[in-house]
Amino acid sequence: MDPFSEVDLKMYFYENRLKTFEGWPFNEDCTCTPENMARAGFVHTPSENSPDIAMCFFCLKELEGWEPEDDPEKEHKSHSSSCHFIALKKKVDELSVEEFFKLHKEKHKSMIKKTGNAAITKFEEAAKLKRANIIKAAEGEE
Ligand SMILES: [Zn+2]
Repeated sequence: MDPFSEVDLKMYFYENRLKTFEGWPFNEDCTCTPENMARAGFVHTPSENSPDIAMCFFCLKELEGWEPEDDPEKEHKSHSSSCHFIALKKKVDELSVEEFFKLHKEKHKSMIKKTGNAAITKFEEAAKLKRANIIKAAEGEE
């Protein structure tokens, strides 16, 4: 993937993140409103069974099971303390080009890590299955 594609850069902007929160279950009288969620870096990534999944566009941490009084910024920091986006002291549009490039590099690191971990999990599951089959076959031979 082109690291500077529009898709990849789009979610750096609050307005684009906010747009994803259509149908978000928490709107009034609560802390985790779409505005606060988007401000904390989250995008709404619902699935059929879980309408309240949100993912940080930057560190790709997914959180669900939100309660009305949850503070998105605090939740983000406590579940993903190494996220460079939530740790930013400035707004994205106030960063220098150099600062932005550094930040974007970190985003790619988290993407690679997530893809790598998913591949490892898949491999381990396949290996487990294979092992079970070998054992079964060996037992059959006895
Ligand atoms: Zn994050």
